[in-house]
Amino acid sequence: MGRAMIIGCGGVASVAIHKCCQNSDVFEEIMIASRTKEKCDALAAKLAGGKTKIQTAKVDADNVEELIALIEQFKPDVVLNLALPYQDLTIMDACLATKTHYVDTANYEPLDTAKFEYKWQWAYREKFEKAGITALLGSGFDPGVTGVFAAYAQKHHFDEIHELDILDCNGGDHGYPFATNFNPEINIREVSAKGSYWENGHWVETEPMEIKRVYNFPEVGEKDMYLLHHEEIESLALNLKGIRRIRFFMTFGQSYLTHLKCLENVGMTSIEPIEFEGKQIVPLQFLKAVLPDPATLGPRTVGKTNIGCIFKGVKDGREKTYYLYNVCDHQECYKEVGSQAISYTTGVPAMIGAMLVMNGTWNKAGVYNIEEFDPDPFMEALNKWGLPWQESFTPELVD
Ligand code: NDP
Repeated sequence: MGRAMIIGCGGVASVAIHKCCQNSDVFEEIMIASRTKEKCDALAAKLAGGKTKIQTAKVDADNVEELIALIEQFKPDVVLNLALPYQDLTIMDACLATKTHYVDTANYEPLDTAKFEYKWQWAYREKFEKAGITALLGSGFDPGVTGVFAAYAQKHHFDEIHELDILDCNGGDHGYPFATNFNPEINIREVSAKGSYWENGHWVETEPMEIKRVYNFPEVGEKDMYLLHHEEIESLALNLKGIRRIRFFMTFGQSYLTHLKCLENVGMTSIEPIEFEGKQIVPLQFLKAVLPDPATLGPRTVGKTNIGCIFKGVKDGREKTYYLYNVCDHQECYKEVGSQAISYTTGVPAMIGAMLVMNGTWNKAGVYNIEEFDPDPFMEALNKWGLPWQESFTPELVD
């Protein structure tokens, strides 16, 4: 039915590409384009022989002209950006120039400021509308499925949602004293930043890891979780009718936090370049180079993730609570696609978002966050493509 160009060939892209190949009726041809072509070739070789035709290419996604040339050559129906958040705007520029739909999983972040906001990508709304193409922002798990869950709760279960808690639990164990489950640079930038939540129309800022709660996650058990700033809060605060408070919590073990504190204290998590033996280096990028590559964690990681949303609001004049979540098993993911659950829970929704844009199910010209589309086809696809969801009407609440 169509052709997709996937940019990036890391942990998340590898899962999305496996899933595109499983879904070959929709993804007839794909191009894997990334900085290191050898990685694209290795993955293409592993998946060769299936129905989806695969091409590979080397591309510097910071270079708009290079991207345009490649898009013009391959002529994809959609570009799925699974590189890093720094490349969002250059890839959007190339999509505009070639009138090609765009999908990503993380909002733009300038390389020199650890701050993510939608304002840079929302500034493209009019240009995408005029060009008659769709940009679907944040089609991973969080952001991504969390926004779809919110749209589904809004559509089917509430007249108004007043409170939303997004809970992201990784109950997996990889056996290393310290490693990150996805790109270490992006992960550490996220967790060492100040926390914040949305309440009564404005942001409330907290110190990093200041707010801690303990939650008993279905199928995982009791875990410590900490309030973080997270990008979907910004768009959900605008798109959920009547919303008063949105918080995001992520679980961290004590060993992870102790290591992180130590690395912070010695300056290893800084993004300020320093001079080292005559060369400028960024400490956090150096740290990334010495940490285990998240792509190698798959075979070692056991346990489950549980990511979901707890909603409080009103339906037909009555107060109501509702919990939607997915549980994903690290070893099951590894058996299926050779990756752990963190990449899996992001790569599957990335494929689904690209599919819905490409086959015209989600068809609106402009730049949209995922909760602005009809959630039903996405919810159905989650069950079909490996991330079945569960619901509870009597969840434990977070105080
Ligand atoms: P990886 O670091 O594993 O992969 C990134 C890939 O992008 C690598 O293949 C890398 O190339 C490539 N790349 C980086 N810079 C460029 C460039 N300038 N030109 C071309 N290719 C480039 O990251 P992940 O797979 O873990 O994450 C991918 C994305 O998914 C990130 O944006 C991350 O923030 C997002 N994410 C979203 C989540 C969600 O739930 N919404 C959860 C987890 C991640 P090379 O191989 O040469 O390094």
